[in-house]
Amino acid sequence: MKIEKTLFGNHQGKEVYLFTLTNKRGVVLKVTNYGAIVTELHVPDRNGDLADVVLGFDNLKQYQDGHPYFGCAVGRVGNRIANAKFSLEGVDYQLAANNGNNCLHGGLVGYDKVIWEAEESATPDKAIVKFKYLSKDGEEGFPGNLQVTMVYTLNHTNEFKIEYSATTDKTTHVNLTHHGYFNLEGAGNTTIYNHKLCIFGDKYTVPNPELIPTGEIATVKGTALDFTSPHKMGERIDKVEGGYDHNYVLDNPTGVMVLAAMVEESKTGRTMEVYTTEPGVQFYSGNFLDGLVGKEGKLYNKHYGFCLETQHYPDSPNQPKFPSTILKPGETYKTTTIYKFAVK
Ligand code: BGC
Repeated sequence: MKIEKTLFGNHQGKEVYLFTLTNKRGVVLKVTNYGAIVTELHVPDRNGDLADVVLGFDNLKQYQDGHPYFGCAVGRVGNRIANAKFSLEGVDYQLAANNGNNCLHGGLVGYDKVIWEAEESATPDKAIVKFKYLSKDGEEGFPGNLQVTMVYTLNHTNEFKIEYSATTDKTTHVNLTHHGYFNLEGAGNTTIYNHKLCIFGDKYTVPNPELIPTGEIATVKGTALDFTSPHKMGERIDKVEGGYDHNYVLDNPTGVMVLAAMVEESKTGRTMEVYTTEPGVQFYSGNFLDGLVGKEGKLYNKHYGFCLETQHYPDSPNQPKFPSTILKPGETYKTTTIYKFAVK
């Protein structure tokens, strides 16, 4: 496997790199150590023609200028925490409110905006970038020095794998995910409506108007949220106010690796499978995209990209009935997610 490292720019005096991972089928994955962002991912269609299937930018400056979490690592706690606070072991913690009253995707400077230490390596079968970041005690209001490691791997079977691990010196909450916006017809070309989606979960956490779970876990049966059998993303999207932005409960109580979702785009034949050890996946249909200029000057309009963010449920720190996001000293947080590309 091939891996190349080039300079991508500078952030707060630190060098930022771009790593290009290439497999023998021509799949190209580009990732930077600014936010551990996947900037490009070129995968073949049924004729072998490559297209870049992730939304993003051509240069670092545009990422630094702000964006809706394109392709990045999300943490320390992904998704929303109600009223930007929680209490843990009798102590109240106040976080940054960066989404109305709530804390979204780790706060003002989440893991999407920090520089990760990066170390690249390659074997005949794999190209790897290992990212490390020390998230300091008190950063964005969270307790504990959290040492985070993420290993990004590309192999010859067109799997992009992320292995997360973390340890802490004080009890804290951790919920890491990847925020890739995908469009299997090629980023910036059209909406996601023609993508057929299947999600291997028949329940979801019911959100309130601020997208904070009410605590109720309801069935998707009989609603436009039901993807237990394949449906086009665009088929019923007008029945869901604003579009999809929902956390699905996966049938995965023991944390083993399961197939969480499958996506198929019939014009190009491209497919993507998502495997994870996580108990949930947020399906977000790019509802807040509004014509941002992306790579090659292409416009990213509403519903031009979808995210499948594998994770623990939103607002877990305040929802004792949800699977726990607590990490204690001496424990190791470990999760894995794989995005696998193929054609049909
Ligand atoms: C959330 C959306 C949010 C988006 C930010 C998603 O993970 O579910 O509500 O707007 O991230 O780009």
